[in-house]
Amino acid sequence: MVAAILDSVWPRKCEVCGGGADRPGRHVCSACLMRLPFTPAEGCCRVCGRPVEGLCREYLCEDCSANAPAFDRAASALRFEGRAREMVHGFKSRQEIWLRDDFCDWLEAAARVRFDIPAVDVVLPMPVVLRHKFDRGYNQCDVLARCLAERFGRICRAGVLARCGNPKRQAGLDEESRRENVKGTFTVRKPQFVRGRTVLVVDDVMTTGATLSECAKELKSAGAWRVWCLTLARSVRT
Ligand SMILES: [Zn+2]
Ligand SMILES: [Zn+2]
Repeated sequence: MVAAILDSVWPRKCEVCGGGADRPGRHVCSACLMRLPFTPAEGCCRVCGRPVEGLCREYLCEDCSANAPAFDRAASALRFEGRAREMVHGFKSRQEIWLRDDFCDWLEAAARVRFDIPAVDVVLPMPVVLRHKFDRGYNQCDVLARCLAERFGRICRAGVLARCGNPKRQAGLDEESRRENVKGTFTVRKPQFVRGRTVLVVDDVMTTGATLSECAKELKSAGAWRVWCLTLARSVRT
C-alpha cells in the first residue's frame, strides 16, 4: 500500500537501464534482471562455489584441494563484474540502500541452491574494518544479514563476530599474502551463540576467500559446527 503510493508520486527507475522499474518494490527491471551475471546453479566447486564454464556437475577446484578453506561451503549470487560490480560498489560506498530488497532476493536464491536453509541456526554479518564503518556510518553486511535472517525465520546476531585488527588492504596482494594479512583479525565475542551451531556468514564480495576462511577458522575455534558463507558477488578468474 505504502509502496504503491510512493510509486505513484515518485516512480522507481531501473538501476541498470534507467527505464521504468516494472517489479513491485524492486529497482532492477525484469529485462535487466535477465542480463545480470548470476552465478550458475550447477557446475560450481562444492566448497568455495567457484563456477566453471561448461561444467554441469559439482567438483573440487584446485584452490580448495591445495588449500582447504576453513569454511565448509560458500555461495555467491553474482559474478563481480560489469553492472553487478557497479551496483555492489554503490551499495558499499555510496549507501545505495534502496537496493537492499533486490540484493536480498539474489542472496536468498543463491543460498537456497547451495545450503540447507532449515539447518542454519544463526546468521552473522561480516564485521567491517573499523575505519570503513566510521567513513560510511553503517555496515552494509548488517543490512543484508538482517533482511535475510528475517526471510529465513532465523536469528541475526551482529556483534558476535568482531574485528580485532585492521589488516592492510587486500587489493594487489597475492593469495599467500592475503592469508597472512588477515591472520588474527577476527574474534568471536559471544561464543555461546555459535557453539555447536551451523552458522551462516553474510559478506558483500568474495575475492580469494582468504578473509572468509580466516573468519570461519575463528568461528570453528569458538566451537561452531559448520560455517557457510554467502556473498553477494565474487570475483571469478577466467
Ligand atoms: Zn532495466
Ligand atoms: Zn573451490
